[in-house]
Amino acid sequence: MKPISKIAKAIAPSATVAVDTLAKQMKADGIDVIGFGAGEPDFDTPELVKQAGIRAINENKTRYTPATGIVPLRKAVADWLEKMYGVSYKPTQICVSSGAKHNVFVALQALCNPGDEVILPAPYWVTYEEAIKMAGATPVIVKTDETTRFKLTPAMLEAAITPNTKCLILTNPSNPTGMLYSNEELEEIAKLVLKYDLYVISDEIYDQLVYHGTFTCFASLGPEIKERTVLINGASKSFAMTGWRMGFAAANEEISKAMSSYLSHSTGGTSTITQYASLAAYECQDDLVGKMVLAYTRRMKYFMERIAKIPGVTALEPDGAFYVFMNVKEQIGRTIQGVKINSSADFAQALLEKGLVAVVPGEAFGAPGYVRWSYATSMENIREGLDRLEKFLAE
Ligand code: PMP
Ligand code: GLU
Repeated sequence: MKPISKIAKAIAPSATVAVDTLAKQMKADGIDVIGFGAGEPDFDTPELVKQAGIRAINENKTRYTPATGIVPLRKAVADWLEKMYGVSYKPTQICVSSGAKHNVFVALQALCNPGDEVILPAPYWVTYEEAIKMAGATPVIVKTDETTRFKLTPAMLEAAITPNTKCLILTNPSNPTGMLYSNEELEEIAKLVLKYDLYVISDEIYDQLVYHGTFTCFASLGPEIKERTVLINGASKSFAMTGWRMGFAAANEEISKAMSSYLSHSTGGTSTITQYASLAAYECQDDLVGKMVLAYTRRMKYFMERIAKIPGVTALEPDGAFYVFMNVKEQIGRTIQGVKINSSADFAQALLEKGLVAVVPGEAFGAPGYVRWSYATSMENIREGLDRLEKFLAE
């Protein structure tokens, strides 16, 4: 048989999804594992959003929609962006799709030619690297660590730029580190974006989940920056709607038209029911997120207090999102419960098999030496998970 696509063969499956699937499988097999793998809110979708979805079904709003979403939803998203961040988009510049993940994929398809380079600061969310490759472009990974709070500095960015650089991906707040860029830090990056004529994919999916500091929407840094930014956000994290599959991109007319063509030939639009439910979420004037943010803050504080008392692991306190990115470099070289730990991947594997705790190894995020814990889970699970970690490390 002829070989299948080279690009497809080179794509690695998502490690975050894999860890979550494995933990769920172990649970189904009766093994008492605690999953800190997938970053997915453990809250229920708000009632008024669920009811809007049910109404859509009952009112037979079940047919095809425009590929980039129904006009009222695109308008509601544009109004929301204006209200939150003072950035103004026409509904035609908004592409609603089946999750922010799909928007990242389509944005890269729309922007990149083969041979283009896309700058990706590490630690990065696992999907970007593969999505860059699926667009035929080349990821240029810029490593960061605790010394810059895992943030890209202007000097690092400038050193990575070549004549082939097309685009920079920024995630703010970050998955997997939880770090937030200040307005001043983003302004410095924006200067280089203009100087070197780059595009920016600004993934702002965690914008509502911020515990310290103030979130800045990258596109709000000025009209020239807005023209070059593909702003990505969605309902998954803010409104606890991961399974509904709603994300959006806001971009200049040329990019949104190209993305719209892609969508019209691929998904043809996300579920109509999801779109009506999301409309209720984006139009809602009540605070749907505050309660979740309070709970995440309490969990994060507890997590950090416990980590401070566990020898041999460290972590910076996250500013946002719902991840703790734990440095486990001191554990490498040890033998724990009979298992030689040669990497953070070994550590995560041993912690799962011997400690019955699922975390994602830093290798998946381009950052060996770390493991990611999601605290989008109950306090009870967090307490028990950290007890298990302590016990695992002590042996
Ligand atoms: N971007 C980041 C940084 C994420 O962590 C996620 C979570 N999966 C997504 C995008 C995608 O979210 P969704 O596709 O559920 O909208
Ligand atoms: N964004 C979440 C995570 O990083 C969900 C899983 C995924 O889609 O990657 O775990």
